[in-house]
Amino acid sequence: TLSKKFNERWEKLNVKDEQVKQVFKEEMDRLSSLEPSSSEYNVTRNYLEWITSLPWNVTTNDNFDIPSIKASLDRDHYGLDDIKEMIKTFIAVGKLRGSVGGKIILLVGPPGTGKTSIGKSIATALDRQFYRFSVGGISDVAEIKGHRRTFVGAMPGKIIQALKTVKTSNPVILIDEIDKISKGSHSDPFAALLEVLDPQQNKNFLDHYMDIPYDLSKVLFICTANLTHPIPAPLLDRMDVMRLNGYIQAEQIEIANNYIVPSVKSETGIGDDKLMITKEAIKHLCEYWCRESGVRNLKKMIERMFRKVAFKLASNPESNELITITPENLEEFAGLPKYRVKKYYQTPVPGIALGLGWSENGGVPLYVESVVDLYQPSAGLRATGSLGDVMKESIEIGYTYVKRYLELNVDPKNKFFEKNAIHIHAPEGATPKDGPSAGITMITSLLSLATGKPIQPNLAMTGEITLTGKVIPVGGITEKLIAAKREGVKKVVLPKDNRKELEDIPEFVKEGLQIYLANYYSEVADVAF
Ligand code: ATP
Ligand code: MG
Repeated sequence: TLSKKFNERWEKLNVKDEQVKQVFKEEMDRLSSLEPSSSEYNVTRNYLEWITSLPWNVTTNDNFDIPSIKASLDRDHYGLDDIKEMIKTFIAVGKLRGSVGGKIILLVGPPGTGKTSIGKSIATALDRQFYRFSVGGISDVAEIKGHRRTFVGAMPGKIIQALKTVKTSNPVILIDEIDKISKGSHSDPFAALLEVLDPQQNKNFLDHYMDIPYDLSKVLFICTANLTHPIPAPLLDRMDVMRLNGYIQAEQIEIANNYIVPSVKSETGIGDDKLMITKEAIKHLCEYWCRESGVRNLKKMIERMFRKVAFKLASNPESNELITITPENLEEFAGLPKYRVKKYYQTPVPGIALGLGWSENGGVPLYVESVVDLYQPSAGLRATGSLGDVMKESIEIGYTYVKRYLELNVDPKNKFFEKNAIHIHAPEGATPKDGPSAGITMITSLLSLATGKPIQPNLAMTGEITLTGKVIPVGGITEKLIAAKREGVKKVVLPKDNRKELEDIPEFVKEGLQIYLANYYSEVADVAF
């Protein structure tokens, strides 16, 4: 009976691989020789369950029709033109080769920018089955490659589980949060992932539990990450990296109006006759509730507003009133705003400079404040604000440089730095900050304090500085410009050597920003004062 069931399943699978057929036969023989009450019987039965439920020979046909793929991607996601373009090219190449397998896509960018959801869209567009799992926080190789059968309660790893679930051997498998893997002391999940993903190795993927090779070469793997640097080079080198840099406010408003609101509407059943959210209200949400690179919080807030409205409607079912949410009554539905004011500093103050940082949340405004520490007897500099080693060094470099710059380029008689103890700080103090890109911001803050001149309003800057005052390039320019716009900045100073990246940034991101390129610090000062 049990044997019959397995045999029937096996027939249907039409397995061609001799080694696999051999293993099946051996296990069937073993099953018939064992006492059904023995524990070994159970182990063997479980194994046969797995081997007879994997899609050994089943594939689906890919949709290679580019226009319909484009339509499908556009239906689910606003903007992201370069990503969609890359996906189309990728699929067009796949069409020529006859398969899109054997490639690894890495989608990288800040939270809530649509990485996971566009991964799903790719599967839909290609007409492939889809399976998603997160590797965030895992440290055990067995999660990926399974446990050996001798283990009590042994199971195959996630990859084999995925194949069993989707029932085809060419699905899209989305491996989420690959940068959040924690490397154990005696277990290296990255190495296991390399075996899974590497087209050179994955034709013969060996799960510990299955103990027979499975061909993963037809699977399209898509990985997502917020950052690339935790991913080991051997793995990263094999990936096709696609960057999602975050959205400017106008895009966030479009996404809210045309994608999020309609989808929440249909989920909650609250129609246009019951609720209307004005564009201004959405804009206010972006400005005072959710300052973010993606749209995750925006989506949460909109869902929350709909729940409030649903509650109102439920408690007064007779009402025919149309509820309109505007900036004026927004708090009633969205709760208190997270941000009260548009900017930290309404008027320019000497010693306050605005830099642009870059974290896994995308670009962020990074203020630098310097003040004189009145009761410190001797001249010097103290820095606070959860600063990493590289940033601390960049402050020291800036301090050395600014003393010279003040004396040689600004005012030889100004003895400010000789006399004063200075405290330099980067709020918000609880957010760790690192990297060299605040170099020119630090110097400008110190120079402003020393001369008593405030920095031009609505100006932000980013750039590493060398000891001789050369401004050298930094990363994350697109993300930083998006953050600058979010902060209401109008002018930005960037290192001249970043102009290649700058050229590649879409016009709509740069629109409304006056960008200055600097080779030496003096050019930064010219703009700042
Ligand atoms: P994380 O790094 O935190 O995992 P993520 O990039 O995977 O973030 P998603 O979960 O894919 O983010 O996206 C969050 C939500 O925003 C989803 O509901 C998604 O559909 C929506 N969204 C993001 N970008 C767009 C877009 N361009 N058009 C329409 N909806 C979008
Ligand atoms: Mg995600």
